[in-house]
Amino acid sequence: MAVEGIERVAIVGAGLSGVIAARDLAVAGCAVHIFEKSRGAGGRMATRRAEGFAFDHGAQYFKAHGADFAAEIAAWRSRGFATSWGEDRFVGLPAMNAPVKALADGLPLTTGFTLARIEGGPGAWTLRAEEGAVAGPFDAVLVSAPAPQTATLLAAAAPDLAQAAGRARYAPCLTLMLAFEPDDVPSPLAVPERPEHAAIAWIAEDGTKPGRLREGARRIVVNATPEFSRAHLEEAPDAIAEALLAAVAPLLGATAAPVHAKAHRWRYALVEEPVGQACLWDPARGIGACGDWCLAGRVEAAFDSGRALARTVLGEG
Ligand SMILES: Cc1cc2nc3c(=O)[nH]c(=O)nc-3n(C[C@H](O)[C@H](O)[C@H](O)COP(=O)(O)OP(=O)(O)OC[C@H]3O[C@@H](n4cnc5c(N)ncnc54)[C@H](O)[C@@H]3O)c2cc1C
Repeated sequence: MAVEGIERVAIVGAGLSGVIAARDLAVAGCAVHIFEKSRGAGGRMATRRAEGFAFDHGAQYFKAHGADFAAEIAAWRSRGFATSWGEDRFVGLPAMNAPVKALADGLPLTTGFTLARIEGGPGAWTLRAEEGAVAGPFDAVLVSAPAPQTATLLAAAAPDLAQAAGRARYAPCLTLMLAFEPDDVPSPLAVPERPEHAAIAWIAEDGTKPGRLREGARRIVVNATPEFSRAHLEEAPDAIAEALLAAVAPLLGATAAPVHAKAHRWRYALVEEPVGQACLWDPARGIGACGDWCLAGRVEAAFDSGRALARTVLGEG
């Protein structure tokens, strides 16, 4: 049963934290609606398809430290949209965004809606999108965008929460998605996942993850270190790709140029300083916020924060 006075709930952002909050509130009887600026659910649990190649170009895997997330992963595995990748690591199946997409399936979700302003007041909030659409009224609005964006969005409607969100700090991450002809890089790759390198923090071959295409091109995801990412953050994507490729090519031992090389800029990638509270909620206004930035820079923190916010809204927190 929804809490008295809170029935219609808007959730902004369809990453894991927002979708978990929406799912838990929907189960409790709230009329939820998710608004997402991009084309689908997943957030940083992301899969990019380009030129016939698919890459997990955001989160690489997830782990469970707590019982709640372990139980959630078990449910995902039993429903076939996650699986183990090694001893204690898990990935979405067939791609990293699969669990979030599956959870969002069946929940009202409007994509291509970039929240610009929260208008109205307690009991009758409306959302105005950059694209021009207006939605509402809602009894509660929960924002799960990265903390700097959440702080801006909440500045007028809930200044205290905005100030709290503004405390979180992130490292950016520049990511390079590469595809090579099968024989143009050693098989298996002769470089560790985490090479000790000033520019490169992580190298993974997508085809070595379970349930991914193994035949054909060798698809490789490269994450730059925070230092490299900060230094090159504002460069054009082609310049980022060129600089990262120059850094990683000697590590990979490639014998020819890649057939595909695209960079992605994650401006708010990895939480370095979280807020230190599981979620933010102002009961008088009916405004709340969640996200990994509340707790830590990992998938489990996004789950824990989304769940904590749903419980708090329901008066169970
Ligand atoms: C390169 C990279 C590698 C990573 N590797 C790992 C890893 O190996 N293991 C791990 O556990 N974690 C990893 N992470 C972190 C992990 O991806 C995040 O902790 C988690 O996915 C965050 O979920 P979230 O719901 O808090 O935020 P997000 O997934 O960022 O979701 C926020 C959503 O809000 C939407 N949004 C933003 N602004 C608006 C707006 N104005 N209107 C509407 N919608 C909006 C966004 O489009 C997005 O969909 C990695 C992250 C990156 C970027």
